[in-house]
Amino acid sequence: MTETDVIVIGAGASGLMCAIEAGKRGRRVIVLDSANKAGKKILMSGGGRCNFTNYFIEATNFISSNPHFCKSALSRYSQWDFLALITRYQIPYHERAHGQLFCNDSAKDILNMLLKECVNAGVNVQLNTLIESVESHTDCFHLKTNQGNFKSQSLVVATGGLSIPKMGATPFGYKIAQQFGISVIPTRAGLVPFTLQSDDKDKFSLLSGIAVPCIISNQKQSFKENMLFTHRGLSGPVVLQISSYWGLGEEITINLLPDLVLETALKVKRQQKVKVRLKTILDAHLPKRLLTCLLSEELLNTSLQDISDRQINLIANHINNWTIKPNGTEGYRTAEVTVGGVDCQSLSSKTMECKEVPGLYFVGEVVDVTGWLGGYNFQWAWSSAWCAGQYV
Ligand SMILES: Cc1cc2nc3c(=O)[nH]c(=O)nc-3n(C[C@H](O)[C@H](O)[C@H](O)COP(=O)(O)OP(=O)(O)OC[C@H]3O[C@@H](n4cnc5c(N)ncnc54)[C@H](O)[C@@H]3O)c2cc1C
Repeated sequence: MTETDVIVIGAGASGLMCAIEAGKRGRRVIVLDSANKAGKKILMSGGGRCNFTNYFIEATNFISSNPHFCKSALSRYSQWDFLALITRYQIPYHERAHGQLFCNDSAKDILNMLLKECVNAGVNVQLNTLIESVESHTDCFHLKTNQGNFKSQSLVVATGGLSIPKMGATPFGYKIAQQFGISVIPTRAGLVPFTLQSDDKDKFSLLSGIAVPCIISNQKQSFKENMLFTHRGLSGPVVLQISSYWGLGEEITINLLPDLVLETALKVKRQQKVKVRLKTILDAHLPKRLLTCLLSEELLNTSLQDISDRQINLIANHINNWTIKPNGTEGYRTAEVTVGGVDCQSLSSKTMECKEVPGLYFVGEVVDVTGWLGGYNFQWAWSSAWCAGQYV
């Protein structure tokens, strides 16, 4: 039986950060992971450049059944604290749209920094370790694994969400929560492309590869960004963002000309009595292939002078207010995150410790806190894990 102060399950972003902080306090820490490599999601994130945080972090950038829960951790270990760490390691980075911060070279820079910090803090990372059972005894936890048995005072669950099972994602963290009587908010894939109903799919798959700026809205949220048509459905940043707020069977509204009120523009043009076909006007704003999918060839070739007010309203509505009901999402196979997870009501927002199970902590994506696209999920991993690391 290996005895230690802290066992962290999961050598991802949050597990490594928590282990480093606990190690720096002089705690003996072992990180156990079933995968053959630490931090696989860090390496694949941000297209290989890891969007590790964002200049603008607010609680409103996160989805949770308790929207206030994330505030304490995000303010105690902020984006500025993580940037200070990056700067200390001289990792070159740059800002993209909306304050998103990416490595200039490679996500490997982030993982190597965390692993170096683990070494400096005396943290032992043990891979290829399958956990067979977790038991709580008075003042300690016992773990049986395929690499022997372990005992610790504190146990941190940092097993992430369900997205990309091929990368080793498992529901283990939720099962541990349930084992200890902690409720789990139902999970679903987030930051994920939409699939379309078969009619729409046949029609719009012809547009595969076309990207357009748009606003996508539903009852809960609205985002302005690029949308990408794919051979499976709809993707691109704006679609990923709204997908985290979407439920099966719901409609979304897409404004394909977010900077133009088309009804007014067409009516003004018609008043000018310019002889011009509808197609010529719309061609200036939207890709031809998209227009022919949305409007009939006959209508597109009609002179604007011959189009009635009613028709203009219909055309404008179709483009500024296109309503579509996705068939579903691509699911955990391609999702960037899992929405839902370990119920925040059961955790202390200051320490991430379970209120009813002293010594048991949950950090990172396994918790019911899900960030927007843009570095928010990593910031939640760093912040929640840093906080737990001060107490485990
Ligand atoms: C393709 C992709 C791109 C992304 N890009 C970004 C981005 O650029 N910016 C951003 O902010 N977020 C991004 N994310 C989300 C981000 O990667 C996660 O939110 C973040 O990694 C969560 O950190 P975590 O430590 O909680 O979980 P993870 O990083 O998922 O780590 C969990 C660890 O637990 C281990 N584990 C799981 N089950 C077990 C078990 N049963 N026993 C032992 N170990 C186990 C796993 O092997 C893994 O190492 C991306 C996600 C994906 C999938």
